[in-house]
Amino acid sequence: MEAILVSACLRGVPCRFDGRHKASPESARAVDGRDVVSFCPEVAGGLTTPRRPAELVGGDGHDVLDGTARVIEDTGRDVTAEFVAGAHRALAAARHAGCTEAPLMPRSPSCGRGEVYDGSFTGESRTGDGVTTALLKRHGIAVRAAPGL
Ligand code: SF4
Repeated sequence: MEAILVSACLRGVPCRFDGRHKASPESARAVDGRDVVSFCPEVAGGLTTPRRPAELVGGDGHDVLDGTARVIEDTGRDVTAEFVAGAHRALAAARHAGCTEAPLMPRSPSCGRGEVYDGSFTGESRTGDGVTTALLKRHGIAVRAAPGL
């Protein structure tokens, strides 16, 4: 069976901005029996853990890849370059392992699929993909929001 690329925080790695993870019985069941590649694009892009929360401003991950939107921390620091670098490293890891499928963490500015936080840092979300999701989709990898979250 083909390997799948999974958000590392869903596998119990404490790599979220707040130093925590998001593993749950549901996320474990979702990948049960699969060969899993755990990956955190934000850490791979050079960001520390913990780190300031960041959101997509001016568009979604596709717009970031096209250069018309940015990823900004709540302090105002621009971390677009780190997010894009992490997305490319995620794509390289997926290709290396032969992954064609990726269940990723919902609403994240990297890993969200179909819904992301709206850039207001208020917990509100809107339609769109995260930066890593956008890049993986552009290269034919089937990204889905991991269930149970
Ligand atoms: Fe989890 Fe993805 Fe955020 Fe890393 S970038 S903490 S894997 S949601």
